[in-house]
Amino acid sequence: MQSLYANGWVVTMDDAATEHPHGWVLVEEGVIVSIGSGAEPAGRDDLERIDLGGAVVTPGLVNTHHHLCQTLTRARAQQADLFTWLRELYPVWARLDAEAEYAAARTGLAELALSGCSTAFDHHYVFPRGREGLVEAEVQAARELGVRIVASRGSMDLGVADGGLPPDDLVEDLDAIVADTERLHAELHEPGAGARVQIAVAPCSPFSVTGRLMEESATLARRLGLPLHTHLAETVEEEEYCRELYGCTPVEYLDRLGWLAEDVWCAHCVHLSPAEVRRFAETRTGVAHCPTSNLRLGAGIAPVRDLVDAGCRVGLGVDGSASNERSDLFAEVKQALLVARGRGGPDAMTAREALRLATRGGAAVLGREDLGTLEPGRQADLAIWAVDGLELGGAEDPVAGLVFAGPHRVERLVVGGEDVVRGGALVRAEEAEIARAHRVQARRFA
Ligand SMILES: [Zn+2]
Repeated sequence: MQSLYANGWVVTMDDAATEHPHGWVLVEEGVIVSIGSGAEPAGRDDLERIDLGGAVVTPGLVNTHHHLCQTLTRARAQQADLFTWLRELYPVWARLDAEAEYAAARTGLAELALSGCSTAFDHHYVFPRGREGLVEAEVQAARELGVRIVASRGSMDLGVADGGLPPDDLVEDLDAIVADTERLHAELHEPGAGARVQIAVAPCSPFSVTGRLMEESATLARRLGLPLHTHLAETVEEEEYCRELYGCTPVEYLDRLGWLAEDVWCAHCVHLSPAEVRRFAETRTGVAHCPTSNLRLGAGIAPVRDLVDAGCRVGLGVDGSASNERSDLFAEVKQALLVARGRGGPDAMTAREALRLATRGGAAVLGREDLGTLEPGRQADLAIWAVDGLELGGAEDPVAGLVFAGPHRVERLVVGGEDVVRGGALVRAEEAEIARAHRVQARRFA
């Protein structure tokens, strides 16, 4: 069957930043066939015409950093910096099992979908010994809701006894980490265009992982063709830690380990020198910018204007729900714009540039050529935004209006040609039931 999404304001995010104010998108078998404005294509006999009534159509948003399990532990350590916050939460997260992870993932992914996000990366690195099926639980939740997931087999192997931050009972043995990553790759990873489930290799951070695990992770990922991810340069305390332990900045440390490269993206990158920004650009290393989380923990504001101007790949992330209690990626679009302007003045970022970070930028960060723009041959991942509500009255430019007036519940979310959200509600699951089941699990972490 062919579907024609007609009478919309289509924001393609292609190289020329083309927009069709009276546009249409023709979709077949989950892939975009053609896009245009004016006269609609005749299509085939089985064409279904969907009138969007002037709604804005953007590519589905791509989230580049999250910890879905943290939905179980929101609003803790309310005034803490990163290290204090982590020390309070590690022992709580140590209670995680597959049942709780499934409830957490359903909640976080449903929130993301309702904010227009069609593809979510989850950086899961908490693997309490003997608890199995954690990554599988997230993948099941994503499949049920209908969104794409890139799930990480994260890791920690540097406990308190060895000078790290996490408790010793929450760190794992290097060989077990590598073996489990290989298993998940074999069982779950889908290569190529249109993939709905992918695996990433993601040791947690310089203060919870040994240099040896960082190197072994890179070797493994490059052998299997998987992307690499970690936290980097989030706080001044992290920089002090690295200087003391390794005699260099976190970025220099990663560079030494062979981790600045095109198959890597790093979360945060708040504290980068101008030379380090240039190094990110030279090496094509990606960045997951998480402005709300960085503000919540008082970590600072990443130099996103500089990173974009240097030619870096930059996407947006909501980050985990214990440091950004809301998994709303559209809220991060507005937040990215606001913090860029707070740092660099009113022309530091346009509304469309902010939206580009959350779509094309995110897809580039995850290495997904098939996502992030609306062009023939790309996946039919469409976020459709109503513009007839109270908050957009008087906005002649509905695209800028959406960003400035955000966040919004998406009107319709299409992933690979299939509806995930329709009329602002989940299509394949019941929101109230997800919330009830989540509260039952969350009580176990009180
Ligand atoms: Zn994080």
